[in-house]
Amino acid sequence: MRSDAASDRGEWTGIPLHPSRAGRSVLMQLQTDALIEARDVTRRFGSKPDLAAKLALRLGLAKPAPVVHALDRVSLKVRQGEVVGLVGESGCGKSTLGRVIAGIIPPSEGEVRWRGAPMNALPVPERKAADLAIQMIFQNPMAALNPRMTVEKIVAEAPRTHGLSKGENDAYVDRYLTMVGFDTTMKRRYPHQFSGGQRQRVNIARALAVQPRFLVCDESVAALDVSIQAQVINLFMDLREQLDLTYLFVSHDLGVVEHISDRVAIMYLGRIVEEAPVDEIFRRPNHPYTQALLSEIPRIERSKRRFKPVQGELPSPIDPPKGCHFHPRCPFAMDRCRIEVPKKIEIARGHQSACHLNDS
Ligand code: SF4
Repeated sequence: MRSDAASDRGEWTGIPLHPSRAGRSVLMQLQTDALIEARDVTRRFGSKPDLAAKLALRLGLAKPAPVVHALDRVSLKVRQGEVVGLVGESGCGKSTLGRVIAGIIPPSEGEVRWRGAPMNALPVPERKAADLAIQMIFQNPMAALNPRMTVEKIVAEAPRTHGLSKGENDAYVDRYLTMVGFDTTMKRRYPHQFSGGQRQRVNIARALAVQPRFLVCDESVAALDVSIQAQVINLFMDLREQLDLTYLFVSHDLGVVEHISDRVAIMYLGRIVEEAPVDEIFRRPNHPYTQALLSEIPRIERSKRRFKPVQGELPSPIDPPKGCHFHPRCPFAMDRCRIEVPKKIEIARGHQSACHLNDS
């Protein structure tokens, strides 16, 4: 039976709940092995000084370039077959975490593990296989698709590099375009001749054509109209069933994340502050930041909301606050919160939160 929280979802997002979602969260909780895992990942951005800049620094003629602390010792597991939603305000580091996990940018510290083994220690053939097995779907399909190539060539490009013969090409491309609901009679056209929704389907077909096991979807439906969003979300869910895919779904949209995810991780200024199965996090949010985010959900009448929306601006990741990063905006902040980083502790089965209120 679907839970009350689950049955509310169609009302909220306008998207009928996909049949594959019912009952899956429970199965996911029973699995422990991670397909992919970020372990204590830190990522900093800052320009490395060249020789002249180093000399200028030494002579006191220049100041060091600011360092952006995008990720701060983040750990996250995604199990086989699971959809994990990664949520947070713009600038919180969620896209950076998606890119590190997808292998697009390396971590400054920590490691990413694929099927239990550190990615950067994999022998070359295994590393190549893992790189194909992990694909990323970006928000803006136009930027991700080569405007000078036809849809057909875009989808066939990577498989041809990996051994697809000319004779197999047509049937192979048609198979993946059909899978994403794209009209194959239009495959000789260019990306600019299609709508945003169609372009995103091509983008998905291109990713699927290398037969991945794991997709990082970075705000993949954010740029689409609401009605098209619903279609593409349901496409992701169908593909998950059909191809046994696993997803990390990065989004700022709680409605979309609640609809699609088995488990949700909430990010704040480079750290994961709460993680739980989807129904648990929406019914019993523990971290004050999660509570503040949920208070902004439109389906809950303003008069009945238990929590207050988050106040103020996200602090700069160049100079994040000491202790709990959320303390300047938290209505419950204590002295301890300004000094000590809260540890993630398990407050219920599969539900972890990093807040001193849980251990004080
Ligand atoms: Fe608020 Fe302190 Fe909890 Fe941070 S640790 S969320 S500042 S109560």
